[in-house]
Amino acid sequence: MRRGGDRGPADSGGHMDLTPTTSGEVAEALAAASSAGRVVDIRGGGMHSRRGWPFTPDDVIGVGGLNRVVDYSPNDMTMTVEGGVLGSEVVRLAHGAGQAWPQAQVLPGSTVGGIVAAALSCRRRLGVGPVRDSLLEVVVATGHGRIVKGGGRTVKSVTGYDLPRLMCGSLGTLGVIVQVTLKMWPLPMAEQWYVARGTDAHVMMVADGVMARGHRPSAVIVRPGALHVCLMGAPGDVAAPAGMEIGPAPEGPSGAGIVEIGVAPGALRPLAHRLTDDGRDFEAWLGIGICRLAVGDAPGVAAAHDLAGLYGGHAQVIDGDDELRVNPFGPPPAGAEIMRRIRTSFDPAGVLCPGRFAARDVVPV
Ligand SMILES: Cc1cc2nc3c(=O)[nH]c(=O)nc-3n(C[C@H](O)[C@H](O)[C@H](O)COP(=O)(O)OP(=O)(O)OC[C@H]3O[C@@H](n4cnc5c(N)ncnc54)[C@H](O)[C@@H]3O)c2cc1C
Repeated sequence: MRRGGDRGPADSGGHMDLTPTTSGEVAEALAAASSAGRVVDIRGGGMHSRRGWPFTPDDVIGVGGLNRVVDYSPNDMTMTVEGGVLGSEVVRLAHGAGQAWPQAQVLPGSTVGGIVAAALSCRRRLGVGPVRDSLLEVVVATGHGRIVKGGGRTVKSVTGYDLPRLMCGSLGTLGVIVQVTLKMWPLPMAEQWYVARGTDAHVMMVADGVMARGHRPSAVIVRPGALHVCLMGAPGDVAAPAGMEIGPAPEGPSGAGIVEIGVAPGALRPLAHRLTDDGRDFEAWLGIGICRLAVGDAPGVAAAHDLAGLYGGHAQVIDGDDELRVNPFGPPPAGAEIMRRIRTSFDPAGVLCPGRFAARDVVPV
């Protein structure tokens, strides 16, 4: 295991950067941190370091040393990789065999463990499902240094607790994802984005047409003054919908910070109308219920929480400076007490990424 630090060795209380290369080394590092009560951050590509309450770790465990592709069986359409393998490497290998990992929008530098831990499915989710549905098996090193495996490497379902889905979105608060088995998909023969621009009413009318005329879109995204649709499949499946022309995939909203609002799919249109009327920069994923909204400051984050509540949903800051993250998750989530109990069983010392645990303020009952 590579060790580095800027304030001396761990046993003198200094900061440590650890780069384990095996699951055993990860478990060892976590057990040591737990028994010493040292707060740990887990670092993949680091893209989510601006998420949750700001916290200062004593140790940072980088997963870059867990970089082996354990097995790829194109005939079984499964790939097993360690948590620090780059998402781009999974895509490269899969494409070589005519396959894909379409649930993940892989950005440069992001790791498989980070993509799973952050549970950020890509915009094609309407067509291909969320990233959690691509997980067959995970191996996790828990906070107290145990290696736990859940799921199975075959596509058939297995009994027992659904550890893979539990880890999806855990943001490093339950353990380090040391290995993942992913289900691969056939590479689509064709994929094309289309765009229509105009008033809010026009954009929604075009969206209705896309659904009513039997297209099976993999993404229907509303941006201020524009509708973006992605079609995937055989060449005949990706013909232009009425009123749309070929265009690039949309840019996301831009601002000092980004809040992700989740509402029931049926509530997303009224929310998108409201945001358009208010002149806001956003992208709304129709059929899914996700809306990403640009915010400028902490009051803007608070207003986004209120807005989400008004439409029966919730909101969290997914990217922002420390000042924007004074209350990143808003009101405690439903089931917070259950979340707290699960966290205690995985990380009894509470040392793993404490700022990213949405239910951290819940008082035990
Ligand atoms: C505003 C924004 C929007 C994005 N939108 C999308 C999107 O729509 N789709 C998409 O696919 N990607 C999206 N990304 C990028 C995406 O978040 C990254 O591709 C990926 O999810 C994070 O990978 P990472 O290696 O950088 O993880 P990191 O940022 O390093 O880690 C993410 C979280 O997981 C924890 N973690 C990291 N590795 C492990 C591990 N092995 N075990 C346990 N916990 C771990 C970390 O502690 C942290 O809490 C977005 C990023 C940002 C900032």
